[in-house]
Amino acid sequence: PERTLVLIKPDGVARRLTGEVLRRVEAKGYSIVALEQRTVGADLLREHYAEHEGKPFFAPLVEFMSSGPVVAAVVEGHRSIEGFRALAGATDPTTAAPGTIRGDLGRDWGTAVVQNIVHGSDSPESAAREIGLWFPAL
Ligand code: ATP
Repeated sequence: PERTLVLIKPDGVARRLTGEVLRRVEAKGYSIVALEQRTVGADLLREHYAEHEGKPFFAPLVEFMSSGPVVAAVVEGHRSIEGFRALAGATDPTTAAPGTIRGDLGRDWGTAVVQNIVHGSDSPESAAREIGLWFPAL
C-alpha cells in the first residue's frame, strides 16, 4: 500500500491537535507506520521545501517550521497521498471546506506564513523523497 509523509506543524502541536489529527488519519482507515515528535533545523526544512525556494514565504516558512516541535508520521493505506490531502483540505484555512482538518480547526492569524496545521506529500515522488528525508531508516 501507498505511503505518505504527514507533518503536524508547530501550530498544530502547540494547539494540542496531535491526537485529533492522528484520530482522523486512523478513522479513515490508514495505518501509522512511523511516528516521532521532534524540533528540526533549517537545513532539513530547506530540503523539505526545496520546490518553494525563491518564493517570498520561503524564509518565513522555514523559520516557522523550526520554531517548535513538529510531529512527523509515515501514513500507509490505499491512495493515502490523495486521501490525506482530502482530509487536510485546501491550503488556506479560511476557505478550506468544513469537515477537513484545516476547515474545521484552522485559524488565520494574518501571519506571513499560512499556519495550516498539517503537511501531506503531494505525489508518489514527493512522498518517497520526503520519507527518505524524515525517516532515512525506513
Ligand atoms: P503542504 O505542502 O504543507 O501540505 P500545500 O500543498 O497546501 O501544503 P504548498 O503550496 O505546498 O501548500 O505550500 C507549502 C506551505 O507553504 C503551505 O502549507 C503554507 O504553510 C505555506 N504557504 C503556501 N503558500 C503560501 C503563501 N502564499 N503565503 C504564505 N505561506 C504560504
